[in-house]
Amino acid sequence: MNLLVTGGAGFIGSHTCVLLLEAGHRVTVIDNLCNSAAIALARVQELAGKPLRFVEGDIRNPDALARAFAGGIDAVIHFAALKAVGESCEQPLRYFDNNIGGTIALMQAMEAHGVQRLVFSSSATVYGQPDRVPVKEDAPLRVTNPYGRTKLVMEQLIQDWCAARPEASAVLLRYFNPVGAHPSGRIGEDPRGEPNNLMPYIAQVAVGRREYLRIYGDDYPTPDGTGIRDYLHVMDLAEAHLKAVDYAAAHAGCEAFNLGTGRGYSVREMVAAFEAASGRAIPCWSVERRAGDVTELTADPAQANARLQWRATRGLEAMCADAWRWQQMNPEGFTHVS
Ligand code: NAD
Ligand code: UDP
Repeated sequence: MNLLVTGGAGFIGSHTCVLLLEAGHRVTVIDNLCNSAAIALARVQELAGKPLRFVEGDIRNPDALARAFAGGIDAVIHFAALKAVGESCEQPLRYFDNNIGGTIALMQAMEAHGVQRLVFSSSATVYGQPDRVPVKEDAPLRVTNPYGRTKLVMEQLIQDWCAARPEASAVLLRYFNPVGAHPSGRIGEDPRGEPNNLMPYIAQVAVGRREYLRIYGDDYPTPDGTGIRDYLHVMDLAEAHLKAVDYAAAHAGCEAFNLGTGRGYSVREMVAAFEAASGRAIPCWSVERRAGDVTELTADPAQANARLQWRATRGLEAMCADAWRWQQMNPEGFTHVS
């Protein structure tokens, strides 16, 4: 298929592009590089041994979109978004404009070019703190911050769009906690500034870029007092997008799927696993809980297993080993490489 990948230079997009190219799809990426580097796309092509088409531009810019859709597109995988929860509380307008405004512009361009298939990056954040875990797709949606609200509004927008067009298909993928890196160590997660997420923070402590990890709360009602999440390997997540593209081609309508392993790990378990993978000590300090954090969030991935025929196969050891390889080979991320 001819696929348009928005945000394809980012963490999850770059890993997905490798697999899309390897599977024989033709890939166009549109990305404004606001949170990524063009070198990631060079490495994607090197890993896949195949070229992709890159349109550097913003999805809110109609001219950039026109260039991206030129030549014919069969389906869109939509990763492009701002994703930092704390920043979204400080800059809600920017988040609504970029994420929702960007999605509206993208879908208008899809309509203009007769494209009816969409795979969308949603998030487990749409569940807030669910009443029970592992959480199923039909659990109540209750977001707790502006970033989460943009994801929920985008889901609703896409649902309404599908409802209005019987032939359209959309797959809403609710990611739990993507971590790890391509096993080559050539691409991986490269947050700008201080990482918000646990795994890149731990990796930067291990490689010596940061002194210690702050554990946000050790008084949660969990066995070791720290928060529990469902971490999944980014290569498993990338594979899910291949399945979702095929699923969208075969099924009209809009469906949501949880993407996780179904198994939760605490912060302390993650630290121990990373210490084992890296052979480095990770100094930790327990501090106050982080505002908005939930105690435990894990996926029930049964729908994705059954309907997408997708299952996460890589365990915690591979997640840590691959993240560590990437961090060691690229201690400063993509910044100081050519
Ligand atoms: P990322 O920041 O690495 O990638 C997003 C990419 O989109 C970046 O390359 C950025 O430059 C680009 N982008 C942002 N706004 C754009 C715009 N207006 N026009 C063009 N390009 C734009 O993030 P990621 O971790 O790869 O996340 C990808 C998607 O998955 C996002 O939608 C995110 O909300 C969602 N998600 C991520 C996680 C996670 O933990 N990483 C969890 C759940 C959901
Ligand atoms: N966390 C932490 N220190 C950090 C970053 C995260 O203790 O520097 C904890 C956080 O409180 C949560 C877990 O690690 O319990 C996962 O957090 P992350 O931000 O990676 O994902 P999310 O909150 O989106 O699930």
